Amino acid sequence: MQAHDGMYIDGAWRPAAGTGTIEVVNPADESVVGAVPAGEAADVDAAVGAARAALPGWAGTAAAERAVRIAALRDVLEARQEEIAQTVTAELGAPIGFSRMVHAAVPVRVAGSYARLAAEFPFEERVGNSRVLREPVGVVGAITPWNYPLHQIVAKVAPALAAGCTVVLKPAENTPIVAQLFAEAVHEVGLPAGVFNLVTGLGPVAGEALAGHADVDLVSFTGSTAVGSRIGALAGGAVKRVALELGGKSANVILPGADLTRAVKVGVANVMANSGQTCSAWTRMLVDAERYDEAVRIAADATAKYVPGDPLDESVRTGPVVSARQRDRVAGYVARGEEEGARIVAGGAGAPEGCERGWYVRPTVFADVTPEMAIAQEEIFGPVLSVLRYEDLDDAVRIANGTVYGLAGAVWSDDEDAAVAFARRLETGQVDINGGSFNPEAPFGGYKRSGVGRELGAYGLGEYLQTKSLQF
Ligand code: NAD
Repeated sequence: MQAHDGMYIDGAWRPAAGTGTIEVVNPADESVVGAVPAGEAADVDAAVGAARAALPGWAGTAAAERAVRIAALRDVLEARQEEIAQTVTAELGAPIGFSRMVHAAVPVRVAGSYARLAAEFPFEERVGNSRVLREPVGVVGAITPWNYPLHQIVAKVAPALAAGCTVVLKPAENTPIVAQLFAEAVHEVGLPAGVFNLVTGLGPVAGEALAGHADVDLVSFTGSTAVGSRIGALAGGAVKRVALELGGKSANVILPGADLTRAVKVGVANVMANSGQTCSAWTRMLVDAERYDEAVRIAADATAKYVPGDPLDESVRTGPVVSARQRDRVAGYVARGEEEGARIVAGGAGAPEGCERGWYVRPTVFADVTPEMAIAQEEIFGPVLSVLRYEDLDDAVRIANGTVYGLAGAVWSDDEDAAVAFARRLETGQVDINGGSFNPEAPFGGYKRSGVGRELGAYGLGEYLQTKSLQF
């Protein structure tokens, strides 16, 4: 893993405008993994200029040809999976098995889905006496977070390329090396110069310059609701398109009659994966009053098996969180939950045994959580599960919908129709029924303050298109 000391702009690695750098630190042992340049407005300007110049050529390339290029990109990502997994583990601290299975493998599936969609998507259709053309929006500014660092890049860049857009990417400061690796993959497949550009840098500097750039047509952002709201305001002011994938506080609703053991164990696994740093994690478990105590006991036992350790150890399922800041944030919520009267039944405050170095927290379960508590309302972004009690189905709907978020969720029942009927009542963008399984072509995105727009599949492609109608 070798960090580049320049920006990937207009088809080549070029020196940054300034001299500032960002150190990338391994969350497992606090060692410095490498350093990347801290981009400034001048770097963003150069990248946007390259993307603008490349736009007519790329937008005019036949969709079938774009599909071939995306398929080639998919193949390079597949060939470099092990390097990608090692890089994500070093930058993010994710257990190596999870990095291979999810961080490295999912982007291959998503890129593959856009290679297919670019070839098959109806970029033109007839509507009565009109021909409707679906054309690329233009230059895309993509701003991504660190928690699924390559997936979030591919979930924006692949559909943008399929649509015929050109892109400037500003990845998260904690995980820029995997973004550089992605730029290497783009270079390897020989995408025309300027179609994809990478500017590493700090959010308030490079990110803000990109989001506010007058020559960017669409800003696609994934990250916190606070920053998303600011980017939405900037884009609104400039009347440009915006797509926002933000936070969540998703409910895992276990209906009476569901297989309790399975629902609770899968629910715990969902929260603990990636050290709880998943925007769609089911961080609130809702159980009926009658089976509540049993669910809490199963959740506590299951969580005790998530013993944090060295992410390079193949047997470890829980690594550190990404940064000291994130560790302190989780610790703050654990303390807050106790102050508010919730009961810790697994984990709790302090570093796990044997993990004095690195940014580790203890996987934690809170019982006796009530809907108004901060740990039931706010996104913690760590391995912390809140278990709440409901009285009847209306109460469960009220609690599940009782936050500002609406990103994901789960419903468990022995009657699939009842689960679907319940899911219809949830104000959320995605619901897994009896466990579900990841579908890289299903639309992903939020209701309420979890975001604007959708990613993945044909819906994700649609975000990067604008329509023109010709009347005959
Ligand atoms: P963040 O909002 O701080 O940062 C996200 C990105 O925005 C980074 O690249 C950062 O550099 C950039 N940024 C920060 N300030 C900026 C500014 N003023 N202008 C422009 N860009 C700026 O979030 P984070 O801490 O990196 O990620 C965690 C958050 O992301 C969580 O809240 C999580 O729920 C959310 N998230 C949502 C999804 C989703 O798909 N809905 C996916 C992953 C993460």
